[in-house]
Amino acid sequence: MGPGKKEWKDAPKPILVDPTDAIVKVLKTTICGTDLHILKGDVPAVTAGRILGHEGVGIVEEVGSAVNNFKKGDHVLISCITSCGKCEYCKKQMYAHCEDGGWILGHLIDGTQAEVVRIPHADNSLYPIPPKANEEALVMLSDILPTGHEIGVLNGAVKPGDIVAIVGAGPVGMSVLLTAQFYSPAQIIMIDTDESRLELAKKFGATQTINPAKNDVLKIITEQTKDGVDVAIEAVGIPETFNICQDIIRPGGHIANVGVHGKSVDLQLQKLWIKNITITTGLVNTNTTSMLLKTVESKKIQPEQLITHRFTFDQMLEAYEVFSNAAREKTMKVIISNG
Ligand SMILES: [Zn+2]
Ligand SMILES: [Zn+2]
Repeated sequence: MGPGKKEWKDAPKPILVDPTDAIVKVLKTTICGTDLHILKGDVPAVTAGRILGHEGVGIVEEVGSAVNNFKKGDHVLISCITSCGKCEYCKKQMYAHCEDGGWILGHLIDGTQAEVVRIPHADNSLYPIPPKANEEALVMLSDILPTGHEIGVLNGAVKPGDIVAIVGAGPVGMSVLLTAQFYSPAQIIMIDTDESRLELAKKFGATQTINPAKNDVLKIITEQTKDGVDVAIEAVGIPETFNICQDIIRPGGHIANVGVHGKSVDLQLQKLWIKNITITTGLVNTNTTSMLLKTVESKKIQPEQLITHRFTFDQMLEAYEVFSNAAREKTMKVIISNG
């Protein structure tokens, strides 16, 4: 309802607009750090009255005449990225920049924090949920796992034997941690100021943790490595954490920025160029979602480990309270269920 003003209230039920739409009954959704940015007023494209949310699983209630892959009753995973599958960017698998989609859910059109949501370009923007799948785990596939995997791990070119540092142990940093292990790095160092998040990171496979509030990150990395880390993944979105990445990267290394930055960073190009450093950025394309779905199905990764709190839809505002006080409540991801 505008910056700082949130309400949980009745809204008109969405209806089919285009023949490529599906109407989906939302079974489970969650809250993203981006939703908190929107509530603060950091994303001015979001107009007052917009229903937030770009993550979730549900059941198809109705499909438009041009939807071929889904029918009423199908259980589906909703992607945070809408893609037409036909435009120049979609043909390059850059779905984030789809000319009739991209990140629009809970941003430019009403999103998934509702009992029912309209999904445009349903054939390309929904994924079928296999029978007996853990649907809570799959909610983590709408956004955070593909984001961590594509923008962190793949852009960072994590390879067997690498030393990887992840700066930021929030839901996306943890998703980087889970998916980096597909590529067998030798060490994964998690860096965060929240001790309980660092403890969790150890359970999820971090070989070492560093708390920059208590220790000098650069000193520890300099002592323990030859000349820095192969890959530094920024998963916070503030100048301080980007600086850590610039400080600890070794020659030939990759800095993969995942965090959403609200202001400019102090790019130390005069130090980085001579070290042959690659810097990457990005918004998730969700082009690896199908692959990730298989790894969750086979239990190679278990993203349900990231869920710390569960609510029902009528507790939506309480869920926001708990998610926005993550350090106090020890929150990682919340699940909000429809009944
Ligand atoms: Zn998100
Ligand atoms: Zn497109």
